[in-house]
Amino acid sequence: MKIIILGGGITGLTAAYKLAVQQHTVVLYEKQAEFGGLAAGFKGSASWEWSLERAYHHIFTGDREILNLANEIDSGGFFFKEPQTVSLYKGPANNYRIIPVDSPQDFLAIPYLSIPEKIRGAAVLAFLKASPFLSLYEKYTAEEFLRTSMGERAWIVLWEQLFRKKFGKYAEKILASFIWARINKRTKGLGYAEGGFQTLIDKLAAKGKEVGAFLKKGRGVAEVKKNGGAFQISTIDEEGRRQTDEADIVISTLPTPALLRVAENVLTKNSLSKFSKIRYLSAVNLIVESKFPLIDRVYWINICNKNLPIMGIVQHTNFIDKKHYGGKCLTYIANYVDDGAPLLRMNKEEAVDFFTPHLKSINGDFIITHAYLFKAPFAQPIFNNEFVENKPTFETGTPNFYIANLDMTYPYDRGTNYAVKLGQDVASLI
Ligand SMILES: Cc1cc2nc3c(=O)[nH]c(=O)nc-3n(C[C@H](O)[C@H](O)[C@H](O)COP(=O)(O)OP(=O)(O)OC[C@H]3O[C@@H](n4cnc5c(N)ncnc54)[C@H](O)[C@@H]3O)c2cc1C
Repeated sequence: MKIIILGGGITGLTAAYKLAVQQHTVVLYEKQAEFGGLAAGFKGSASWEWSLERAYHHIFTGDREILNLANEIDSGGFFFKEPQTVSLYKGPANNYRIIPVDSPQDFLAIPYLSIPEKIRGAAVLAFLKASPFLSLYEKYTAEEFLRTSMGERAWIVLWEQLFRKKFGKYAEKILASFIWARINKRTKGLGYAEGGFQTLIDKLAAKGKEVGAFLKKGRGVAEVKKNGGAFQISTIDEEGRRQTDEADIVISTLPTPALLRVAENVLTKNSLSKFSKIRYLSAVNLIVESKFPLIDRVYWINICNKNLPIMGIVQHTNFIDKKHYGGKCLTYIANYVDDGAPLLRMNKEEAVDFFTPHLKSINGDFIITHAYLFKAPFAQPIFNNEFVENKPTFETGTPNFYIANLDMTYPYDRGTNYAVKLGQDVASLI
């Protein structure tokens, strides 16, 4: 049996490795020049010993599948720390106020809520943490659930801006299942891959090749067709050269909208109609280099101030030692945007000009010495009712054509641990 895998992110690479271990003939096609997809990293200069993800990445202590895989392929593994998370609010006189939100004690110290509101909010958080997934979480939107259970004031203070900034016009439609998964899964300890996630990705690709998988990068899938019992896969390289390959089985790890562009001829009418209803946001990350951090010690900054056009600020080098990056402080200015958003059209210089005054409003002494801009399409599925009704499953209705992509981690939000699990699970179906 020959299996072709579409996409060389962590899901595709894991599936390729597992299937090649089982002695299948495996060919994988990745459009980009490097493997890794949404978790891929880069090195800003020769002085960086470690690579840095184009979008902030960490794992949780319970992320068993990726930890086991890292051990199995001897990638160097992960280490864990407890970096600080805060929420940023508007303070007096145009200043900002930083409030730690790491622990129940922090929660009880939040200044904008009364004692009864805090007790009520803490009880809801404890319930979400302890509760298994309940069908109730799909009956209500996150906003309805949080407003009703925690109260109006807690919704406004703690959640409203986070949802608006992450999901934009879709914020009101996001299901309560999203917030359940977020709270349920979160651990105080966060893990990072030794050498950066790209080290693990490169090792996974090397292991896949070692056991016989053919992994091809810089070759995007342009079309999938059926020819008798076999699938015909046309690919195109960076110079526009076309090639056709054949397979008995296809596994697509492409984001659903990217799959729709290439597999119209093989997916059933039902799948095409369902998948076309799934909506995604793009991720835009401006990574800024500086001599000093924007804010000391803090890793993760939720932006709860409406006037700051930033979803989150992630100070990577307050988590991972800056010595691995030539001594530079590295900070992600993170946003998710819908098609047509002005941020998607900005180049790096425009993005730096746009964000600089906002960063200076947080710390007047902050100076950007260098920057990198990364835009990732199909980065965040919208977990609304239509998503739940139409999300893909491994089996597509087209015999021998499987899907394993980040829509299938629901109710959990996407993650590298789930990518490993998806790759393993789809391989076990063959
Ligand atoms: C902003 C952001 C922050 C994140 N933070 C974290 C985090 O902290 N921790 C964590 O664990 N996870 C995090 N994730 C999620 C994690 O990166 C993903 O869940 C995981 O990498 C998905 O892997 P995948 O292989 O399923 O998909 P992808 O990485 O999307 O892989 C799909 C691959 O298909 C390729 N492709 C697309 N079209 C074609 C084509 N036509 N032909 C061939 N190839 C094609 C793409 O280039 C890509 O390499 C984050 C993601 C984002 C966007």
